[in-house]
Amino acid sequence: MRKISIIGSTGSIGRQALEVIEKLPDKFEIIALACGHNAELLKQQAEKFKPRYTVLGEEGLEKICSDKENDIILVACSGKIGLKPTLKAIRNGIDIALANKETLVMAGDLVMAEAKKYGVNIVPVDSEHCAIHQCIKDINQVDKLIITASGGPFLHKSTDEMKSATVEQTLAHPRWNMGKKITVDSATLMNKGLEVIEAHYLFGFDYDNIEVVVHPQSIIHSAVEYKDGSVIAQLGLPSMHIPIQYAITYPERFEGIKSKSFSFSDIARLDFEKPDFEKFPSVKLAYDMGKIGGSATVCMNAANEEAVMAFLAGEIKLCNIYEITKKMCDEHEPVKNPSLDEIFEIDKFVREKTKNLIQSHKFVI
Ligand code: MG
Repeated sequence: MRKISIIGSTGSIGRQALEVIEKLPDKFEIIALACGHNAELLKQQAEKFKPRYTVLGEEGLEKICSDKENDIILVACSGKIGLKPTLKAIRNGIDIALANKETLVMAGDLVMAEAKKYGVNIVPVDSEHCAIHQCIKDINQVDKLIITASGGPFLHKSTDEMKSATVEQTLAHPRWNMGKKITVDSATLMNKGLEVIEAHYLFGFDYDNIEVVVHPQSIIHSAVEYKDGSVIAQLGLPSMHIPIQYAITYPERFEGIKSKSFSFSDIARLDFEKPDFEKFPSVKLAYDMGKIGGSATVCMNAANEEAVMAFLAGEIKLCNIYEITKKMCDEHEPVKNPSLDEIFEIDKFVREKTKNLIQSHKFVI
């Protein structure tokens, strides 16, 4: 029996994690379920899964992450609220199944150093990093990480079509069903940029040794190239159940959620192409900010998130997200090795500044 808590149990990843746990009833005991707002669903989940306790809102997260009864905590909330609880859990020696992007994008150096210090496993849930995690046997023998990207709904649309895209068109992701923020990020490919930064911290690879390749079918979830030129990839149908189950059951594997066997002949073909950095400049911006390091990625993440929210609210166009984020990054004076307090200060400052820029109507449609 593995004792687990889920932070963000009512979100897309949290709900699917409970579906996995439902299939493996004798493998897990749930200590706590936590969510931000959806009290009704949290109540239903509590009745069904009988955790020892539930937490609504940010307040109680500290309690969960200090509870050493936990063998593992799935951090599946979105946004910066994932960062502090994750660090707390690491400092209590609790393993982490990590689905929260901001944790590494905002504080990768800090989080990985603490994980090393406390001997904690951070197993990624994101399908790409989970794939790489599965492909790496001896990290010292790996030369390059190859991260695949579906390309999102605008892959083969013109730049003009993309500029005038509606929220609805942007949210119509061809392969993955996810939350709204990450779906917009997938349409601009900023999501891939964030994943490159996460991969840099998780696996300790230089940015020049992390490559992005567009693969529209989303069957190869990522790959690694070994020193001798051998490439090992992880394949599977595009379902988040698989990486979630891998992360929370690691290093074991169970049948669990598997519904049918993978068939190469059903897939028939796999396509690949180079990402178009001109059409999707967010990926390049992420590489550039990642290479600068320190607070540069904190700034980029904060500006991007505020701009995505403004796009979802109909205040700006899709193409403005990049323009705004780039402007904020250009004006940011990066801080090297920022402390946790500095990270949150910079995050707050950039968000305010981004909101002001958007409200200044310079970017209004
Ligand atoms: Mg992903």
